[in-house]
Amino acid sequence: MKALVKSKPEEGLWMERVPLPEVGPNDVLIKVKKTAICGTDVHIWNWDEWAQKTVPVPLVTGHEFVGEVVEVGAAVTEYRVDQRVSGEGHIVCGHCRNCRAGRGHLCRNTLGVGVQRPGAFAEYLSLPQHNVVAIPDDVPDEIAAIFDPLGNAVHTALSFDLVGEDVLVTGAGPIGIMGALVAQCVGARKVVITDINPGRLALAKKLGVQHALNAREETLTHVMQRLGMTEGFDVGLEMSGAALAFRDMIDVMNNGGKIAILGIAPTGFEIDWNKVIFKMLHLKGIYGREMFETWYKMIALVQGPLDVSGLITHRIKADDFRTGFDAMRSGEAGKVVMDW
Ligand code: NAD
Ligand code: ZN
Repeated sequence: MKALVKSKPEEGLWMERVPLPEVGPNDVLIKVKKTAICGTDVHIWNWDEWAQKTVPVPLVTGHEFVGEVVEVGAAVTEYRVDQRVSGEGHIVCGHCRNCRAGRGHLCRNTLGVGVQRPGAFAEYLSLPQHNVVAIPDDVPDEIAAIFDPLGNAVHTALSFDLVGEDVLVTGAGPIGIMGALVAQCVGARKVVITDINPGRLALAKKLGVQHALNAREETLTHVMQRLGMTEGFDVGLEMSGAALAFRDMIDVMNNGGKIAILGIAPTGFEIDWNKVIFKMLHLKGIYGREMFETWYKMIALVQGPLDVSGLITHRIKADDFRTGFDAMRSGEAGKVVMDW
C-alpha cells in the first residue's frame, strides 16, 4: 500500500509502498479515506529533538483520520465491514492501575499511532477494536478526520465548569479556536482568545470567537477594562505552548481561577509560582482525550451546536502532501485535510 513514511532520520517524509499492516485477532483494518496534519506530524517532518527521541525509523506517520472498516480480527465483536470509523490514537496498556480503573487517558504505557506505532497516513490502518470509534451518518468525513485535535480541545475546555464563566484562551491555533468555540457552545459568559499571528486571529473571528486579540498590540488588562471585567478570568485554556502567554494568563486570572494546560512549552520555562499560590489557582495538565468520554461529548457537540468546518483551510490529495506540510509550517493554515 501507499504510505507517508518517516523512512530516514532526517528532515522530511516520503510517500512509499509498504506492506499492509498486520491484523491481529483484536484488530480492525480500516481503509483510510481522509487524514489531517497535526503539529506533531510537523515535528516529525522537521526531525527535531523530540522526534529523534520518540519516533522509531522507519515508521508510517499520521494519527488524525477517518475511514471504513474492511476487515475485522477473529475476536472483534463490535465492528463490521463497511462501517465508517475514526479512532483514538493513544493505545493504552489495559493493565496498569489507571487503565484497570477505567482511566485510560492516564495510562503510563501509552503508545501513539503514527508516533511510536504504524500510523494513519496510509491506505490502510490496523487499530485495536478498543480504540475504534464509530462515526454517526450525520457527521461529515472531514469533521471526523479532525476528531483527534477537536478531542484535545473538548477535553481541555470541558475540564472545568464553564457556564457563566469568563474564559481566556491563549493561542488561536486550530486547537485554541476549537476550545474557544466549545466554551461558547456550553455557556461561557465572555470568551477571549489571544495570539500574535494576525492570520490566526482573523480565522478565530471568522469562526465566531467573541473576542480575538493580538497579545503584542493590546494587554489583557486593557481588554478586561474594555469588556467591563473587574475581577479576572475564571477559567484559562492554555493552547499556545508559549511561556509568555502562560505568564500573561496567570496575571489576569481571578483568585481561585482554574487553568487547563494543553500547550507544550519549552522544557524548564519559568512562571511566577507565588502568583499561583497567592491566587490559589488550580492547574491541570491535559494529554490527549479522555477515553472515551471526550469522544461521546465531542460527537454530541458536532451533531448539535458546534460548527468547526470553517477551520479546514486546505483540502488536498495525499500525493500533494508537500503542499499541506508547507501550509502547516507557514503557521497560516487552519486544518489541512488530505484525501487518500
Ligand atoms: P499551533 O502551533 O497551531 O497554535 C499555537 C498558537 O499559539 C499559534 O497560532 C501561535 O501563533 C500562538 N502563540 C505563540 N505565542 C503566543 C503568545 N505569546 N500569546 C498567544 N498566542 C501565542 O498549535 P495547535 O495545533 O493549535 O496546538 C496547540 C498547542 O497544544 C501546541 O503547543 C501543541 O504542541 C499542543 N498540543 C498538545 C497536545 C496534548 O495532548 N497535550 C495535543 C496536541 C497539541
Ligand atoms: Zn495502562
